[in-house]
Amino acid sequence: RPRRPPPRHHPSPSFTNNASLADSSASNSSIQRHEGGSGHTGLGNSGNTCYLNCILQCLSNTTPLVEYFITGSYVDDLIRGKGELPNAFAALVMDMWLGDCLYIYPDEVKRVLGKMHAAFSDGTQQDAHELLLFFLNILHNDLKKVSTGLDQYSSTLRNAETSVIAKLFQGQLSNVKVCLSCFHKSSQTETFLSLSLPMPPDSRCSIQDCLRLFFKEEILSSSDQPYCSFCGRKRDQSESIQMLKAPDIIIIHLKRFESDDHGNRKLTSTVSFPLEDLDLSQYTTTPSAQHLKYHLYAVVNHTGSLDSGHYTAYCKNPVTQRWHEFNDMKVTDICEQKIQSPATINSFPYSCLQSILALRQLIHV
Ligand SMILES: [Zn+2]
Repeated sequence: RPRRPPPRHHPSPSFTNNASLADSSASNSSIQRHEGGSGHTGLGNSGNTCYLNCILQCLSNTTPLVEYFITGSYVDDLIRGKGELPNAFAALVMDMWLGDCLYIYPDEVKRVLGKMHAAFSDGTQQDAHELLLFFLNILHNDLKKVSTGLDQYSSTLRNAETSVIAKLFQGQLSNVKVCLSCFHKSSQTETFLSLSLPMPPDSRCSIQDCLRLFFKEEILSSSDQPYCSFCGRKRDQSESIQMLKAPDIIIIHLKRFESDDHGNRKLTSTVSFPLEDLDLSQYTTTPSAQHLKYHLYAVVNHTGSLDSGHYTAYCKNPVTQRWHEFNDMKVTDICEQKIQSPATINSFPYSCLQSILALRQLIHV
């Protein structure tokens, strides 16, 4: 089959159009050709790189992000003198979607990441969630625009940095403290790219349990007492977190690695989660977000212990709507039951859900 270079920086056929995707040709990095492409391309492991591969697969199944890169739209947003990672990622997703290789090695992405952070170049296992945040932050920095506008939440003028990453993944939290003596209320806002949730001590829980724990009101007393500007001294205060802005795509990360007096350990509780309709409306203050429901499309699993482990990803193909397990170069079809109970059905007995990515259901009111 003749191979022509893909249209790197020109609009390509619609990403969601299956026929035109199948018709397109591959570019470089050919290893083996057989039923690859269309988002079914595995990623070769070049020495402890499963933490990178599982994240790349999750991002490759994030439709609006891939559309932005595969159509070349990102080129218009590149900041002068930057763009190594956006370019490497764009070339990779083109190979993964428009190519026909069974698997490829994401060498260029790995090289660029290694140049930016030594930990990603020395061949050691790294934390997949840290890599994901690092990756998104670099993309944001290389593609951001500064816009001056009115902050709809605080009604103040602000210089906001926007990018495709901020538009898709960024939410806003408010930390509200109320003085229990004078009821003076103070709040601080911060943006987030992911929610890192604590886990209850139970061996079985749900993602909703973890969310409740994260958003639960707490009383700060004795040595934790914050200063109340109205009382002019430290006071007992209640503290709660609210979501001011819900992101279109929410990344939920579980704090499975815990440090205590005995060192670091991994929490292996089974955490159940719904595939559809994860409802976060009770945690948000935005009136328009009354139906804040998310659909799961990507899961990162970690098997093994703290020191020696392996990462895999479950992702829902946005074109076929079918779930696949991505285990480095191996890509297999999986059923929905396997996604929801990886600890019992997975061939790795100690596999644990580490992060999920869920797309917000867009309801037109
Ligand atoms: Zn007070």
